[in-house]
Amino acid sequence: MRNDFIDNLSHSLNKMQREGLYKKERQISSPQAARVEIGHQNGVLNLCANNYLGLADHHRLVNAAKNALDTYGFGMASVRFICGTHDKHKELEEELATFLDKDDAILFAACFDANGGLFEALLGPQDAVVSDSLNHASIIDGIRLSKAQRYRYLNNDPVDLEIKLKQARAAGAQNIIIATDGVFSMDGSYANLPEISRLAKFYGASVMVDDCHATGFVGNKGKGTPEHFGVNVDILTGTLGKALGGAIGGYVAGPQPVIDMLRQRARPYLFSNSLPPTAIAAGLEALKIISESDDLRKKLNENSKYWRAGLKALGFDLIDGEHPIVPVMLGDALLSQKMAERLFDLGVYVAGFFFPVVPKGQARIRTQMNAAFTTEDLDQALHAFEKAGQDLGIIT
Ligand SMILES: *Cc1c(COP(=O)(O)O)cnc(C)c1O
Repeated sequence: MRNDFIDNLSHSLNKMQREGLYKKERQISSPQAARVEIGHQNGVLNLCANNYLGLADHHRLVNAAKNALDTYGFGMASVRFICGTHDKHKELEEELATFLDKDDAILFAACFDANGGLFEALLGPQDAVVSDSLNHASIIDGIRLSKAQRYRYLNNDPVDLEIKLKQARAAGAQNIIIATDGVFSMDGSYANLPEISRLAKFYGASVMVDDCHATGFVGNKGKGTPEHFGVNVDILTGTLGKALGGAIGGYVAGPQPVIDMLRQRARPYLFSNSLPPTAIAAGLEALKIISESDDLRKKLNENSKYWRAGLKALGFDLIDGEHPIVPVMLGDALLSQKMAERLFDLGVYVAGFFFPVVPKGQARIRTQMNAAFTTEDLDQALHAFEKAGQDLGIIT
C-alpha cells in the first residue's frame, strides 16, 4: 500500500482516539455468563451482554452443541443450495416458524445478513420502504442495497409515519413495507406496533419487524413484540445471537412465498456458508427451553423490575419502561466513559454509549438484565452504581 494511504488511516485513527470515539475491546477469559473473568478480575458482573435468558453457557445448549459435533461434524463446507442444507437446518426453520406463528422461516449466518438480504430480494424500483429513523444498521444497509424508493420516519412517530405513507402512495409505490425494530436497543423502548399495524392496513402496506431484542423473552410466551401487543405482523427477522443462546445465526419468518423468494434471491443466503450443526442444535434446544417453561422469562422480568427500582431509588435518571434494557442517562460522553471505567474498577462491566450511536448530549450507560443474575448480584451491582455515581457527582 502507498504510504499516504496508510498515513491517512493512521491520522483518522489518532483523531478517533483524541476525541474519545475509539472503541476498545475487553477480553473475557471465562464463558459468557452473569459473572465473567476479565484480565485479573474474577467474578465481574456483566451488565452489557444480550444474554437475556442466561442461555449463553447453559448446560443444555452446550450439550446439544457437543452432541451435534460428535454426530454431524464441524462444518457444512457449502452454501445452502449446493450441498449445505442439513436435516437440522430444516428442523430449526420449521420450529422457528411454528414458534413465531408464521408459514415458514429461513436461516441466515446472522440477522445482519437476514436484514441485509431481505429488501433487495423482495422489492423493486416500483416499490417503497418506510423505515424508522432509529432502525438497526443492518436494516439501513439492507434498504440501501434494494432498488426500492426510501422514506424515513421520525422514531416511533405514527404522525410522521402516516405522512411518509401518504407520500409513498402519492408517488405511486406498488408494494410498501414499513420496517421497524421491535425494540429500540439504545432506549429499550417498544415500537408502537398497534399504530403501525393500523396505518399499514389503512395504506395497504406490509409490516416488517426486527425482533432481535425481543424474541424469546418479550410477550407471555416469548414470541416477541407482536405477542406483547397482541398484533400480527407480516415479516419477522431475528437472531440466535442474543436471548436464544448468544452464538450465531439469524432468520426471517413470514408468508411462504416471501421465504421461498428469499431462498431464490437473498444474496447473503445464496453466497455465504450455511450455519454449522453446533449452532443449529443449540438453537433448537434454546427454542425448547423457552417453549417448555416461563421460568426464565419470569426471573428476567423480576430482575428488570428490581434493577430499575434500585437505580431509581439511588437517584439515577433512567429511560422509563419495562424492557431488560435499562439506560442510565448521563448526558456527557466523557462522563459516560468515566462512569463505565469506575464501575469496572468496582467489578461491574457496562458500556458507555455516546454520539454517534445515540444523539449528542444523550450519552448513557446501557445496562441489560439477565435471568442468570441473583438478587445478591444485583445488590452488589447497585452498590457499585451508588459508589461510582457519588464519586463522579452524578448522584448525592
Ligand atoms: C443485534 C441486532 C442485529 C444483528 O444480529 P446478528 O445476528 O448479531 O447479526 C440486527 N438487528 C437488531 C435490531 C439487533 O439488535
